[in-house]
Amino acid sequence: MATLAALETATPHALLRLPYPEDALAPIISARTVALHHGKHHKGYVDKTNELISGTEFEGQALERIVLATAGKPEHSKLFNNAAQAWNHAFYWRSLKPKGGGAPTGDLAAKIESAFGGLDALKKKLATAGVERFGSGWAWLVSDGKTLKVVSTPNAEVPFTKGETPLLTIDVWEHAYYVDYQNRRADYLQAVIDKLLNWEFAAENLART
Ligand code: MN
Repeated sequence: MATLAALETATPHALLRLPYPEDALAPIISARTVALHHGKHHKGYVDKTNELISGTEFEGQALERIVLATAGKPEHSKLFNNAAQAWNHAFYWRSLKPKGGGAPTGDLAAKIESAFGGLDALKKKLATAGVERFGSGWAWLVSDGKTLKVVSTPNAEVPFTKGETPLLTIDVWEHAYYVDYQNRRADYLQAVIDKLLNWEFAAENLART
């Protein structure tokens, strides 16, 4: 979080521009799902965050700073939920890429080997974390500073409020998969893990820890 100051922006916060066309994740995630998820759900969180911070002490602060400042504070739960979801979604879109999947390399591959015993074991853990998250939430690969871990969070919660650095995430809210997979969350997770995960993005995040 050393670079936080550099991330401070004039409000309003902008909706992340997708790093690929809306139909680029198909057939794993359809263009219709991406359009709704990014254009309605994600945009809604960004818009609501901007509305809630307008004229407050949080105006002009980086999203990470707002999330850290409001986490665990019941009086700020509305802002936390929207700001964290704005952050989580921007991170999610970058965790995916067309023709992703495959295998990580370098330091990330070595750390996966030592933490999980191999990529297949990590993939299983990620799928299980996503499937077993009851209700809405997220499955994450994180670094706790020493080792890599798979965690899941409920609703808008994000691991960096507990000192863990996110490397990758998968959205397991129903809106992320229901149009394409209906109730089959496990199928969505398996397809995303095998075919869309952006290991280069994870490696960049690890390099910054
Ligand atoms: Mn979502």
